[in-house]
Amino acid sequence: MHGQALKGPALPAETVFAPATAAGRAAVGIVRISGPRAFDAARALAGPKLPPPRYAALRTFRDPATGEVLDRGLLLLFPGPRSYTGEDMVEIHHHGGPAVQAAILDALGGLPGLRPARPGEFTRRAFANGRMDLVEAEAVADLVDAVTAAQRRLALRLAAGELSRALAAWRGRLLDLLAEVEAELDFAAEEGDVPDGLVARARGEAAALRADMARLLAGSRRGEVLMRGLTVAVTGAPNVGKSSLVNRLARRDVAIVTPIAGTTRDVIEVRIDLGGIPVTLLDTAGLRETEDPVEAEGVRRARERAASADLELRVVDATDPGPPPEVDGRAVVVVNKTDLAPPPAWEMPFVAVSCATGAGLDALEAELARRAAGLAGSGEVALLTRAYQREALEEAVQALERIAADGTDPVLVAEDLRLAARAVGRITGAVDVEDVLERVFARFCIGK
Ligand code: GDP
Repeated sequence: MHGQALKGPALPAETVFAPATAAGRAAVGIVRISGPRAFDAARALAGPKLPPPRYAALRTFRDPATGEVLDRGLLLLFPGPRSYTGEDMVEIHHHGGPAVQAAILDALGGLPGLRPARPGEFTRRAFANGRMDLVEAEAVADLVDAVTAAQRRLALRLAAGELSRALAAWRGRLLDLLAEVEAELDFAAEEGDVPDGLVARARGEAAALRADMARLLAGSRRGEVLMRGLTVAVTGAPNVGKSSLVNRLARRDVAIVTPIAGTTRDVIEVRIDLGGIPVTLLDTAGLRETEDPVEAEGVRRARERAASADLELRVVDATDPGPPPEVDGRAVVVVNKTDLAPPPAWEMPFVAVSCATGAGLDALEAELARRAAGLAGSGEVALLTRAYQREALEEAVQALERIAADGTDPVLVAEDLRLAARAVGRITGAVDVEDVLERVFARFCIGK
């Protein structure tokens, strides 16, 4: 059903509705309706006189079955195709209580031809109706999920179509080139030879496109880091002050602090915002040896997660520093409790702090931000934010590299052009993307 809606021009006949605002108490809540019966639904609840398109009108909403007044609020109509989904859409702005919203949803559910929307269905319809491509649909989800300013800015650029336009232009050039090569091949089949000039031109174009794509790829790590964030494992012997350090870092002017349970109850994850990059601190303080097999498995996984973190904060105690710790390049050594003892005279670089007094924490944060920025890269265009987007573009680049390197056989050149165009099309959703679509839209909340 979905597949058909995507491939064919036919719109889904069903009309769907869902709350667009989060559940709970709020001043205002919004219910959205999309589909061919959306305006009928508006009439059923608000009476026959509909407001003009895109004008908010105050209305009394009634239960169509009983006539009971449910709420008074604003009614807005967005006729298709100039709506979010491309279909006729209605917004009901009601008082934001859960009972009010439930009553309105119940009333809508009782109307013929209406059903609750599935997660991401509004955006999926927008995609199916050509209102946005896959990159822009992902950006909508990113915008909803954005917790840092850098994420918001990036998602907004993507939603505005910056990446989509570049990809569409590249795909267009690839398909044009492919059409030329194929035409020449047909011609050659009749005439017996292919003009040399054409393949040489294809090689030149392929090299130029490859360079453009490589520039975008160079920033993909940065885009992924901005969206997904970095993990920092806080490690060290018991009682050196790991938890104290995490608490200190989490409390210092950070935008988000959400202590959430980790993979086991013994690892605490704390999210902080480090210069716009979302960072998850993994506090391994609770990790301990255990006989319980279930707990041991949890501890093993937690260790693994810490071991694969992007950065490590190795904490040592100034009162008992021992020999300089053996760490790799991703570690920052932190000597804590310098209020009790002077830091050791090590040659290796470390940051001296005191979680008790707060001394040195500025320097540590600066060092962390520097490392995070280093991992995120800088300067490059960070427009690719998903691993599958990067992989697809890498595929295209490889195909173009083959052409640029030794593309002399026009049949092989055509095949590689086709491969490259298909890879780019997978990112925007222009070609065989059913499996990608399932993954993308499954992540959406209901009402988007
Ligand atoms: P963890 O086991 O590594 O997580 O260590 P904790 O954060 O639980 O700290 C162990 C003990 O050291 C606690 O009693 C803390 O109050 C104390 N502590 C942590 N940091 C400092 C510090 O900088 N100075 C002093 N004097 N005590 C500290």
